[in-house]
Amino acid sequence: VEAPEWQDDQAQKWEPLALVLHQDVSALKEAEYLKDEFIGIAAHELRTPLAILKASASSMMVQTARGHGPQLADWQQEMLQDIEQATDRLTDLTEDLLDVTRLQAGQMVLQRAPTNVISLVQRVVKRFCQSASRHHVELRTERSIIEISIDPRRIEQVLTNLLTNAIKYSPQGGPVIVQIEVQERPQTVEIRVQDTGMGIPQHQQAQIFGRFMRAENAKAAGISGTGLGLYLCRSLVEQHGGRLWFESEEGKGSTFFLTLPLITPSH
Ligand code: ADP
Repeated sequence: VEAPEWQDDQAQKWEPLALVLHQDVSALKEAEYLKDEFIGIAAHELRTPLAILKASASSMMVQTARGHGPQLADWQQEMLQDIEQATDRLTDLTEDLLDVTRLQAGQMVLQRAPTNVISLVQRVVKRFCQSASRHHVELRTERSIIEISIDPRRIEQVLTNLLTNAIKYSPQGGPVIVQIEVQERPQTVEIRVQDTGMGIPQHQQAQIFGRFMRAENAKAAGISGTGLGLYLCRSLVEQHGGRLWFESEEGKGSTFFLTLPLITPSH
């Protein structure tokens, strides 16, 4: 902020104001930076103990199943399974937190490779068909090959997130349809994930891609989550030069649209 030259007495009032504003913004940036750094360090430090917990629980189950050592009672087996599942959830959370810090720091690097996106989607859908017993998950596509340059691990992460949400936020069961189409203008491959679940309330739709953002109907229904998934999905898709958006009606369902360019934009 420049102090006007023609008013000496005013200039004295302008300068301190400019200084206060400057300090406020930099203090906020500093706090934001420290918060991201703390999240990154904490998540990083959690990785090794979580891996040890997971390996210990898994190996105890495997060893007793093979008849090594004393046999475990059913309730002990169940507890080990609970430990394993809880460790998996914590590991996913720490990986998400690490991704958030990478994105915030501009350090998310894509490992692009020519990939048949149809096979990739088929693989993810198949996994959900096997695990989601109360939902009918279906893939609709007229093509068998669409090859594009993407980071397959990251796009798989995005699709897994969208399908997990479609199932998680349809607690009554119901179909989940995944559809792939090629769009001509602009030349993109469009992947839709459609559910008939609880939908997202109209007044929260504009903020739903924000970090840690969760809709009130999801929280009221007691469905757990962190509000990091969609933020990560959108950032990853945009880094690929694509777009991610949705249409949703509360109580009726949601459709998420993901587009990826057929030709990789050159920078
Ligand atoms: P999480 O599921 O861990 O809370 P996400 O970032 O994936 O985090 O989603 C953010 C929020 O968006 C969710 O908490 C939920 O309120 C809402 N949401 C996402 N996907 C759906 C969906 N398919 N149907 C209804 N609500 C959804």
